[in-house]
Amino acid sequence: MSAKILDGKMVSARIKSELKAEVDKLQEKGIRPGLAVVIVGNDPASRVYVNSKKKACAEIGIYSEEYALPEETTQQELLELVNELNRRDNIHGILVQLPLPKHLDEEEVINTISPSKDVDAFHPLNVGKIMIGNFDFLPCTPAGIMELIKESGVPVEGKECVVVGRSNIVGKPQAMLLLHQHGTVTICHSRTKNLKEVCRRADILVAAVGKPELITADMVKPGAVVIDVGMNRLDNGKLVGDVDFKNVSEIASAITPVPGGVGPMTIAMLMRNTVTAAKSCVQP
Ligand code: NDP
Repeated sequence: MSAKILDGKMVSARIKSELKAEVDKLQEKGIRPGLAVVIVGNDPASRVYVNSKKKACAEIGIYSEEYALPEETTQQELLELVNELNRRDNIHGILVQLPLPKHLDEEEVINTISPSKDVDAFHPLNVGKIMIGNFDFLPCTPAGIMELIKESGVPVEGKECVVVGRSNIVGKPQAMLLLHQHGTVTICHSRTKNLKEVCRRADILVAAVGKPELITADMVKPGAVVIDVGMNRLDNGKLVGDVDFKNVSEIASAITPVPGGVGPMTIAMLMRNTVTAAKSCVQP
């Protein structure tokens, strides 16, 4: 059996074209969604992500501003910028690209972003709303993964779902979104015993670890939907996921490639959150 490839480029292109139509409508009402992206320092991977986000904004008509701050930026300077962006009427979404340089306090920065402009959905208020299931924004990567699972045609309800990884930005919210859709969810992490056995139970397996090809074919139930969040750069420059794509795609029913799977979806969901934030400014 060869798995269906869940093509994030294709699904994200479809979502972005729907968003473009929404942006056009908003502009008729005099509102142009605006996103401010703040990057501190010279991390090359962060630079690539920021460029992709700006490009996506341009594609769908979202106004974007970039603030590229030097490595030695102080906490106070960064907080002042976030506060200024919080006050700006033409900026509906604020994204501070993580990770920040070590001397900066990420938590304080996230807590300073106005929850109504927190298009990454990292602010504790938004995290709490996601937990309750009454949210304004969904975190971009897990939201994009839910779209890809939908694309697989496999309903989440009643399925055994295993999420490998428990970070605040992927693993934990991912588990919550699967739970909201009535999956039976297990979260694995570095202290999990018998990772292989737990993974083999999964009808839907999400790997968000950051370890090249950790998930091998013997860990996957035949017919499972496998979502690979990992983005690991090997010494030879090749980008690989957390899943042994070649062998797992022989037994899974659907699988995401790396690159071209979850990555483009994350950006499409950021665009969706920015449009949602702008729509909340429209008078009923
Ligand atoms: P983190 O490093 O924050 O979390 C990794 C998680 O994996 C932790 O919970 C850790 O467990 C767990 N883990 C580590 N080793 C093992 C192991 N051997 N067995 C089981 N679990 C293990 O990473 P992120 O969640 O931020 O990112 C994960 C991956 O996804 C990375 O490759 C990242 O680049 C990628 N990513 C991709 C995105 C995209 O848009 N495509 C967006 C965000 C991330 P513990 O908690 O016990 O330490």
